[in-house]
Formats: sequence, structure tokens, C-alpha cells
Amino acid sequence: RAKQAGRNRCHFYRRDMNEQAVRRLEMEAALREALDRGEFTLNFQPQIRLESRRLYRVEALIRWTHPRWGAVSPVEFIPLAEECGLIDRIDSWVLESSVAQLARWRAAGVTVPGMAVNMSPVRFAHGDLVEQVRQVLAAAQVPPGDLTLEITERLMMTEEVGVHDALDALNDLGVMLSIDDFGTGYSSLSYLKRFPVGELKIDRSFVKELDIDAANRPLVRAMIQIGQSLGLTVVAEGVERETQSRMLKADGCCMGQGYHYARPMDADAFVDWLRAWDAQVAEQDKQNCALP
Ligand code: C2E
Ligand code: MG
Ligand code: MG
Ligand code: MG
Repeated sequence: RAKQAGRNRCHFYRRDMNEQAVRRLEMEAALREALDRGEFTLNFQPQIRLESRRLYRVEALIRWTHPRWGAVSPVEFIPLAEECGLIDRIDSWVLESSVAQLARWRAAGVTVPGMAVNMSPVRFAHGDLVEQVRQVLAAAQVPPGDLTLEITERLMMTEEVGVHDALDALNDLGVMLSIDDFGTGYSSLSYLKRFPVGELKIDRSFVKELDIDAANRPLVRAMIQIGQSLGLTVVAEGVERETQSRMLKADGCCMGQGYHYARPMDADAFVDWLRAWDAQVAEQDKQNCALP
């Protein structure tokens, strides 16, 4: 019986693996078509100044709606796109579209201070990134300082000279470099002094239980201090509650991003949200001034 159960398990295991492999192949094929079919869109999530509650910038997050599968998470398809050589085209599309959106908002009188774009490490390995960034910014007439590229610790650990040169060139251009998911990658921090990084984003796994599990606060505090002592802007991601927001502010964190402020939204919904948010902040300011 035990043997049979074991064999069954093995059988199920294998079938499961098969399904995964098939799904992967299907998804890769679909991913190859997705750009040309216009299946990608962008969502935008605000990053907020914790002190003034004003908008700091927005992060562009890609969305893929497949005609049969519906929404597919970037957590699933971005790694696949990296493996099968499609990420360059996808990230290029995101860069161009998000910077163009920023310019459109501004032309329409919507004040958005800056745009943050996620950039795969794979994209850095291929030489034309800096030139593309330059072109995209020039075409949209967006100042380089209004663009942030969110990169990962994984990229910082590479020894490739081309990557180092690209980071330096982007910094020279005036683009801000931000370390996404800070604290989850490699433990070596030496890259922080070697690379022209301007910002740290504390990963949401640390922020998640900040107000529930006391062990998280010292860690978050330490990360904020690392950022502060190096003169970096610190952004906390995954802020879902006011209590977390208050703790972060008390510990010296400048910026927050998360469902507590807003979920990622499409461009139109973002404009509506911003209008309501600005009105609310102005109202609060008025009340604060009226206090004795
Ligand atoms: P990320 O860059 O760290 O983005 C933050 C993720 O956390 C987003 O998930 C966002 O929707 C989610 N999030 C924001 N606030 C909260 C919160 O309060 N609670 C919780 N539970 N989650 C929150 P999303 O959009 O599914 O993206 C996942 C990851 O996929 C991103 O993580 C990023 O690594 C990658 N990604 C997204 N768009 C792009 C892109 O255009 N290019 C590349 N290369 N990667 C992308
Ligand atoms: Mg990001
Ligand atoms: Mg992040
Ligand atoms: Mg993250």
C-alpha cells in the first residue's frame, strides 16, 4: 500500500510538472505576441512624502491581460520574459510609455513630480539602455532628474564592466537610481558606496508586520539609518496601515508607498485619485494652520 501511495504521489508530481512545463511553453509563446497585440498596459502607484503627505512620484507597474487567461501577474511573466530574451523589448516599452504618460499628464496640467520605472538586470547587460533613456527623455522633453530607475541588489553584485559603466552614465545623465526590494538580496553592502545610487526601497516583507511583530522594527530602523547615513532617500514599500506609516515616519523614513495611500491604478484613475488626494491634503493643511 505504502509503495502504491508513493507511486501515486510520484505520478501526480510528474503530471504537475508536466502541466507547469506546458503552461510555461504556452506562456512564452503568448508573451512573444503580447506586445504587438497591445496586451500590456501600465498601472501607476503613488509614492508619498510621509511628512507633508504630498506626492513624491509614481511607480509604473506593467499589467498583462491575456485574451483567454485574463490578468497574468508580473511576478509570473517577468522572470519568464527575462529567461526567454523578451525582457529588453518589454522594459523598453514600459520606459517609453511611462515617460510619455508623464509628459501627457504635465501637458494636461496634472502635476506629477516624477516617474519610477522597474528595470530588469538583464536590460543592463545589453548596451543600448543609456542611449534609449536619453532618447526617450529628450523625445518627451522630461528632465532626467524626473526619472528613477528601480534596480535590484542582484544587478549591483555583477562584475560586468558594461553594467558599471551604464550605471555611471545614467547617473551622469541625472537619472536617479533606486535599489528596489532592499534587504532581500545579497548581504554585501559594499555596492552602496561603489555605485551612484540615490535611493533605497525597503522591501515590503519588512514593512508588512512592522506594527505586529516587534522583531521587524529594529531591522527597518537599521535600513533607514543606512540610507540616511549615506545621504540616500528612503522609501518604504507595502505600507498598508496608518500605524506602519506613523512608525516609519517616527524612525526617519521619508517616503511611503502602499495600499494605505493607493493601489496601482490606470492613468485616468490616477488623475482622479490625485485630485481627491491633493484636495484632502490641502484641507488638512488648512486645519493644522487653524489650530491654536
Ligand atoms: P516591485 O517593483 O517591488 O513593485 C511593488 C509590488 O508590490 C507591486 O506588485 C505592487 O502592486 C505591490 N504592492 C504595492 N503596495 C502594496 C501593499 O501595500 N501591499 C501589498 N501586498 N503589495 C503592494 P506588482 O505590480 O504585482 O509587481 C510585482 C513585481 O514585478 C514588481 O515588484 C517588479 O519587481 C516587477 N515588475 C512590475 N512591473 C515591471 C516592469 O515594468 N518591468 C520589470 N522589469 N519588472 C516589473
Ligand atoms: Mg519597483
Ligand atoms: Mg519594490
Ligand atoms: Mg517588491
